Amino acid sequence: MNCGADVIVVSQDQLGKAVAPRVAASMEAGHVSGAIALPDTSNGFIVKTNVFSGKAFANVSVNTSKKVISLLPNSISPESTGGNAEVEEFNPDLGSAGITVKEMKTQGEGVLLPEAELVVSAGRGLKGPENWGMVEDLANTLGAATACSRPVADIGWRPHHEHVGQTGVAIRPNLYIAAGISGAIQHLAGVNGSKTIVVINTDSEAPFFKAADYGIVGDAFEVLPKLNEAMRTFKASQN
Ligand SMILES: Cc1cc2nc3c(=O)[nH]c(=O)nc-3n(C[C@H](O)[C@H](O)[C@H](O)COP(=O)(O)OP(=O)(O)OC[C@H]3O[C@@H](n4cnc5c(N)ncnc54)[C@H](O)[C@@H]3O)c2cc1C
Repeated sequence: MNCGADVIVVSQDQLGKAVAPRVAASMEAGHVSGAIALPDTSNGFIVKTNVFSGKAFANVSVNTSKKVISLLPNSISPESTGGNAEVEEFNPDLGSAGITVKEMKTQGEGVLLPEAELVVSAGRGLKGPENWGMVEDLANTLGAATACSRPVADIGWRPHHEHVGQTGVAIRPNLYIAAGISGAIQHLAGVNGSKTIVVINTDSEAPFFKAADYGIVGDAFEVLPKLNEAMRTFKASQN
């Protein structure tokens, strides 16, 4: 690949995770994944990244002439700078691929969790799998993916691919609604990059409230249906 660029910035989503290391290898470029800020070029080329599930930062110095940066979603807010860069469509000729796709299996219905911009998640506070209808209803209304805490997946109330956190999927959606989840550090490690966090919990002392942008001290069994109703009314008023 040769487009003349010295620095290539890729979103670290599912596609970016697959593509960026390959592009870096083919260009013999230094690759930094998990970047959370644009490079500091005041003294070399330093990129700040998330390490240890977001518990620490690392400043990575890149010394190669070509560089590929994988930027975590929602780490930088868009800003108007008055630049005049042009957006160009890029249609690479990939030739004959070295990989043959023999079969594609979809994960199921609905929005895929790792790519979702909106996520409705619930934990042990929901008491049992029979109560997940209200989580799914709100997710359907919003066009969101569903997620859960680890014990919920371990007990078998929800599938393991919905488990978010340090040992599950790490997500950074625009909106993360967490109902009946205490906010243990291992859970937060996978969701604290979310742009806006809404927490619903009966316990006003639940640790999750410290990480929340909006907190509702209340019973998820009452709040989730009301939230769903309010969202449906709002959406209907927009049509
Ligand atoms: C090595 C390790 C790795 C781990 N990795 C992960 C991970 O990746 N992801 C993860 O999630 N956990 C992980 N855990 C487990 C984590 O420490 C917590 O135990 C877990 O997140 C708690 O799940 P929870 O919040 O659903 O349940 P609980 O801790 O039982 O909390 C339930 C919450 O629901 C609230 N509640 C109860 N009833 C209601 C109601 N009616 N309405 C509203 N709120 C209500 C309660 O006040 C409480 O805050 C890990 C633990 C270890 C040791």
